[in-house]
Parts: sequence; C-alpha cells; structure tokens
Amino acid sequence: MSYFSDILSKVTSNQKNTQCPICHKFARQDAHKVAKGLAMLCPHCHALFVKP
Ligand SMILES: [Zn+2]
Repeated sequence: MSYFSDILSKVTSNQKNTQCPICHKFARQDAHKVAKGLAMLCPHCHALFVKP
C-alpha cells in the first residue's frame, strides 16, 4: 500500500522552498520552474518573480 505515499513523495520532491524577492516569505514552488527560470507566483503577495 505504498502507492499514495509514492505519489506524495514525488510531488513533494518536485517542489522547492523558494523565497519571494518582494515580500521575502518562503513558498513551495515547482522545481522545474525554478530550474528553467520560469516565472513563479508568490502565494503571499501574488507577485510574479523569476529566480536568478
Ligand atoms: Zn511575495
């Protein structure tokens, strides 16, 4: 019965704790977006930002 925990671990491992440069709060973002330099949406201040 490890199906659900497998999915859960995959989802969480694909997310990266990223700090918003506007409000400086941390939020989990898609690791692929971080790696590709795509714009991310901050859930706290709703700003779009790109990690350098
Ligand atoms: Zn923010």
